[in-house]
Amino acid sequence: MFKHDIIIVGGGLAGLRAALAARGADVAVISRVHPLRSHSVAAQGGINAALGKTDEGKIAQRPFGGAGFPRTAYSQDRTGHALLHTMYEQALINSIKFYAEWLVMRLVVNNGRCSGVVGYNIENGKIEGFLAKAVIFATGGYGRIYKRSTNSIINTGYGCAVAYRSGAALEDMEFVQFHPTTLYGTNILITEGVRGEGGFLTNKNGERFMERYSPHLLDLAPRDIVARAIKTEINEGRGFEGGYVHLDLTHLGARKIKERLPGIRQIAMDFANIDPVREPIPVQPGQHYSMGGIASNKKCETAISGFFACGECSCISVHGANRLGGNSLLDKNEGEPFFKLRDELKATMDENVGIFRDEQRLTAALTKIRELKVRYKNVYVRNKGNVFNQELVNAIELEGMLDIAEAICIGALARKESRGSHYRLDHQERDDVNWLRHTLVSYTQDVPVIGHKPVNITMYEPERREY
Ligand SMILES: Cc1cc2nc3c(=O)[nH]c(=O)nc-3n(C[C@H](O)[C@H](O)[C@H](O)COP(=O)(O)OP(=O)(O)OC[C@H]3O[C@@H](n4cnc5c(N)ncnc54)[C@H](O)[C@@H]3O)c2cc1C
Repeated sequence: MFKHDIIIVGGGLAGLRAALAARGADVAVISRVHPLRSHSVAAQGGINAALGKTDEGKIAQRPFGGAGFPRTAYSQDRTGHALLHTMYEQALINSIKFYAEWLVMRLVVNNGRCSGVVGYNIENGKIEGFLAKAVIFATGGYGRIYKRSTNSIINTGYGCAVAYRSGAALEDMEFVQFHPTTLYGTNILITEGVRGEGGFLTNKNGERFMERYSPHLLDLAPRDIVARAIKTEINEGRGFEGGYVHLDLTHLGARKIKERLPGIRQIAMDFANIDPVREPIPVQPGQHYSMGGIASNKKCETAISGFFACGECSCISVHGANRLGGNSLLDKNEGEPFFKLRDELKATMDENVGIFRDEQRLTAALTKIRELKVRYKNVYVRNKGNVFNQELVNAIELEGMLDIAEAICIGALARKESRGSHYRLDHQERDDVNWLRHTLVSYTQDVPVIGHKPVNITMYEPERREY
């Protein structure tokens, strides 16, 4: 049994930021992977702040989608890498204790109060308890329940599922952001910073089609609008064979591309054999960000006393509907390999719970997910070892992925309107009368229970903007 005053689960940017804020206390970070391999390291384009530019020109800011001013502070196209390495260095300097390669599987909750977590040591297969006065989840998003996703493979949403099964509600799960530009074939992110620097989209006829969808903001319209525009071009036969469009930055010139977008150039050369200095990049939309998550308030408090959530696993609702991933399994030798179910889950999410949704497809997805939940009881893993058994970890996470997928479908089916990233072909209008409210999904032993809570409107009334 380990004991600390504060336990933070997650070693990405949110987890490390929380750890540094608590420095001086007895604080420990538990992470499924080494903190520097957390998904945050992949953040590319930058981080928004209303700074103006400093007089000394120390903080550069670039335009991003949906923004009225260049507000995105950046470090080339490797912003997450720069931030995460700096934060980790600071965490070491401040003697933060790390438990890397541990999977947290349960919250310990008694009478509505959290007093610790149960962790699985991936290195040796042991299960241990951690006692704490406060537990903070910073476990990242749930992008990998989709096949086409920009997220790293560890972003399964398992942290959200652990919290959900322990009594914390999930909020606004139906709001899943699809990034317009992921590299065709691999779905590696091609940052919006490319369009911020002047890159633009064209279809197979060479048309700059964003002129039709967003005459004012063109290629820098909000992500949901650009993603729907690309999907419409592809669906209506103006995309390239296989389902993609072009992102052209050849006109920016070699110098600017090499200076400002070196990572993107490298990705295009390594994974598509294309040099963006000379040729356009083939892109298609892919799942990118989870707006929903563990229901929390602006102090990161949840409904469970002593349990907090921050970062992408939480739903504090700063992004609204759109933002500007069992030991008993070892005994089973018959049944189905777990990865077969995982592939079927991802396929149904891509096909039925994607950019364009409707009742029929969402119902088909929910039926499929419930079938997979029944089949999950009979899955097996081939690796029976205790040491770094990643197959077992992935099988454990699949149970959580199924919970998360079910919560997304329930929310998306109930929300009979279109808002932000959630677009219903059978309910295309935004409906503030009935749906200006958050969705809450709570776990029960039977089917999940859906509830709602009002939207907290502060300085600005929700408006309808023309893009
Ligand atoms: C390719 C890409 C580029 C992006 N670029 C930008 C950008 O330019 N600007 C921007 O603002 N945003 C960007 N985003 C979004 C942003 O990177 C993420 O929202 C953010 O990094 C999430 O940070 P986090 O700390 O919440 O989670 P993560 O960095 O995902 O960290 C999650 C941590 O939780 C741990 N963990 C998870 N489950 C468990 C468990 N059960 N037990 C133990 N540990 C667990 C993991 O090991 C990991 O350490 C990008 C996203 C993608 C996919």
